[in-house]
Amino acid sequence: MPLKGFRKSHCLRGHQLSAENTLEYTKDGYAVRHCKECLKIRSKNYILARGDRNKEYHRNQHRKRTFKLSPQLFEEKMKEQGRACAVCCEEFVASPNIDHDRSCCSGKKSCGNCVRGLLCWRCNTVLGKMLDSPALLRKAADYIEKWGEVYVSRTASNVVGEAQTG
Ligand SMILES: [Zn+2]
Ligand SMILES: [Zn+2]
Ligand SMILES: [Zn+2]
Repeated sequence: MPLKGFRKSHCLRGHQLSAENTLEYTKDGYAVRHCKECLKIRSKNYILARGDRNKEYHRNQHRKRTFKLSPQLFEEKMKEQGRACAVCCEEFVASPNIDHDRSCCSGKKSCGNCVRGLLCWRCNTVLGKMLDSPALLRKAADYIEKWGEVYVSRTASNVVGEAQTG
């Protein structure tokens, strides 16, 4: 049965509205026409969006259970930090780590009062490995700088050495 009205040859996304690609039915006396390709895309997006919502739900549960951090407080912290790591200031590409003072709560969980900033995985790992010790982290920085200077003076003397022999 031919449906009344203007019939487009392509959908808004540019798929050809061939007989095989068109889903037609009448609803409340009106003709409804859908592009099957677009329906497929839509259901795929729906499943992906639902997956993201699930992930977000579980992250919220984890933040709540482990750090006593509500989604609102978490979002406030994100805004405060400009959605970037509190140590290296690089914008988060993955879900941030929640850092807490291990001298208050030594385990993975926090009482909620000792939550500090949101960190990227790298900075959070480094702080943990360095036992949260400012003294140790400063020593590490001094060490790297010392060897940087040694390297510069070595390469400088190499250049002089080459110039003399050449
Ligand atoms: Zn389409
Ligand atoms: Zn970082
Ligand atoms: Zn605590």
